[in-house]
Amino acid sequence: MKLNTASLLIHPEELSREWIDRCAELGIPTLALHPVGGVRAPMTMKLMLDRLETPEYRLLLDEAAEKGLAIEYEMHAARYFLPAREFEKHPEWFRMDENGARVRDMNCCASNEEALDFIAGRAAEAASRLYRSTHRYFFWLDDAHDAFCHCPHCAEYSSSDQQMIVMNRILRELRKTDPEATLAYLAYYSTLTPPRRIKPDEGIFLEYAPIDRDHHTPLSQAGNEKNISQSLYIRELLQTFGAKNAKVLDYWLDNSLFSDWKKPPKPFVADEKVIHADFDYYSDLGFRDISCFACYLGADYAALHGNPDIKAFGDAYRRLKKR
Ligand SMILES: [Zn+2]
Repeated sequence: MKLNTASLLIHPEELSREWIDRCAELGIPTLALHPVGGVRAPMTMKLMLDRLETPEYRLLLDEAAEKGLAIEYEMHAARYFLPAREFEKHPEWFRMDENGARVRDMNCCASNEEALDFIAGRAAEAASRLYRSTHRYFFWLDDAHDAFCHCPHCAEYSSSDQQMIVMNRILRELRKTDPEATLAYLAYYSTLTPPRRIKPDEGIFLEYAPIDRDHHTPLSQAGNEKNISQSLYIRELLQTFGAKNAKVLDYWLDNSLFSDWKKPPKPFVADEKVIHADFDYYSDLGFRDISCFACYLGADYAALHGNPDIKAFGDAYRRLKKR
């Protein structure tokens, strides 16, 4: 199967003319902005939305568009959509932990209709602020191994089902103002197994992010335990979501991961063999869209270590691109 498209995800504060030129020169079609995740996610998402209002930043994105790049936005958004401050008034909107206590740390109660309405409304509002965005949206739930609701109503739903409930609801709201909207189901940590009880609505697509893979062994190489479990997840996910619009979100160029998410960024060397082998593997499975984090490779990286070498990603994409 040939690829239709590819993208790189960088932190909004790392966007620069250098990054725009780098993507344009390598023929990478989409540049995606990804605010820092983890517990800071609601703050970094707000900072990005505010930044998108400024003329200087819009000029930069205009320049990217003029050079032919599509712009997308991918972020952990649940706690931004349902801020902790709502807890005082509506504790029942929040998730119940394993001990039966409502907690305001992450995500929500996926069985609470009011909470879902509130979240979907906030998502539509945020979508309207994503300057020059394509119609594909990426509003991920919070950045954790497993932070879902254990209330009596949610207990029958897996983490993946709970995520599917929230995403279906958000997409329905997005389509009121953007009829072409589509929305990612992020398969990541506890949502790597597909939802079983809740079906994805039309317009939901799979985004597969194998953070726990072995990053220096091709996924297709036999005998690697971490990668064998990934291949099982992929097969099940593709059965549920279909391959047509499915997108890989891998980590080959994620220097934030390789720097343990701590600045200053470490020197980065792309594992070219793995990148090429994995592109073949994913495209053979039917994926037509391959993306990758490329964080911690901004101006501070270049000042310390010189220009980052991300050529292998562009080369692998152009080699498999549909002509
Ligand atoms: Zn619940």
